[in-house]
Amino acid sequence: MKLHEFQAKAVLASAGIPIPEGRPTATPEDAAAAASKLGLPVVVKAQVHVGGRGKAGGIKLAKTADEARAHAKAILGMDIKGLRVEKLYVERAARIAKELYLGVTLDRDRRRPVVMLSTVGGMEIEEVAASDPEKIARGWPNPLLGFLPFEARALCVDADVPAAQRAGVAEIAMKLYRVYAGTDAMLAEINPLFIQEDGSLLAGDAKLELDDNALYRQADLAKLKEVGKDEEAEERARALGFSYVQLDGDVGIIGNGAGLVMGTLDAVRNAGGHAANFLDVGGGARESVVKAALEIVLSNPRVKSVLINIFGGITRGDEVAKGILAVLRDSKPRVPLVIRLSGTEAEAGRKLLEGAPLVSRATMDEAAEEAVRLAGGAGAEPPRRAGDGLTGAKLQ
Ligand code: GDP
Ligand code: MN
Repeated sequence: MKLHEFQAKAVLASAGIPIPEGRPTATPEDAAAAASKLGLPVVVKAQVHVGGRGKAGGIKLAKTADEARAHAKAILGMDIKGLRVEKLYVERAARIAKELYLGVTLDRDRRRPVVMLSTVGGMEIEEVAASDPEKIARGWPNPLLGFLPFEARALCVDADVPAAQRAGVAEIAMKLYRVYAGTDAMLAEINPLFIQEDGSLLAGDAKLELDDNALYRQADLAKLKEVGKDEEAEERARALGFSYVQLDGDVGIIGNGAGLVMGTLDAVRNAGGHAANFLDVGGGARESVVKAALEIVLSNPRVKSVLINIFGGITRGDEVAKGILAVLRDSKPRVPLVIRLSGTEAEAGRKLLEGAPLVSRATMDEAAEEAVRLAGGAGAEPPRRAGDGLTGAKLQ
């Protein structure tokens, strides 16, 4: 679960990290009023659940209230990486001398949290991570001990933080670590962390991503959850009781059993294609569940073919077939369907599907090849959704 910048900043502030004074707003009028109240100049900032707002034109400096109103007008409704801007944050502009990067996330290889600090912070940090990873200093606190003062100081020395700011940055790094651990975050990030002209420190941006599996013990933060357009299908699937994860490819996948679905993803990959999703209908899925699953997969506009791979144990082939037929009865699917049915009642299922507009194959590999072919053939790697901080970048 992602928090907006203004929400994350409130969490940072309550942990004692200095943030600029600011106000969330949703209209140009409110933005102008906030600008006058806060004192000029201000920055008008789009609040969307994605990084790279600055480069997309979603962060603008205003020297007058009228300018703040005009910027607000321009930014509201803007499309940033597929997300529509509906909220703004107006904050007192900083007097920037230098921009640092500070972030905490999980290093899966080391099985520890990692605290990252760099003096080349700001909007280019992803490129720095890729081209000059040594410019990012790292420390791996022991989760049982927390991030200790000497570790924080060592990190500041490693990163070449100016001597005058070392103690202050170390203090903020320890506080940010406490936020990360205390909120069950997957990512806590301040980028940029400003060194201002007078030498003081200020969190210029804040990103906080919480672990959905821990939301039950983060009741206050969980209330801030907003289901994004791209997450609606995942939420719908969760409500129906099956697991669905959207991926970047174009071959829709439905299977029963997590292992079989993983195997199906591999089969699609082996055939040169890219899966659009992971979807496990679970054991013993009945007609209505299969129908709902197929509808969710088809609701993804990227899907160009659907591969249904069922190995019947407690799941029955005839129930699966009825679910598919229920969808076909309502409307002809906009993309071709390929099915591989085997196991319990597979024969009965195949009989039911005779004459239906879909392709049947005897083995998983054959079905995967056919689904990839129908989706337009083997293709290049789908684009990654970039610009989302350092979590996507390789950590070492
Ligand atoms: P992001 O692009 O979504 O990460 O948004 P940020 O909040 O990090 O802002 C992007 C950039 O806008 C920063 O790196 C700064 O260079 C600039 N910026 C943000 N806040 C201020 C501010 O208060 N004053 C000035 N002059 N620039 C700012
Ligand atoms: Mn930023």
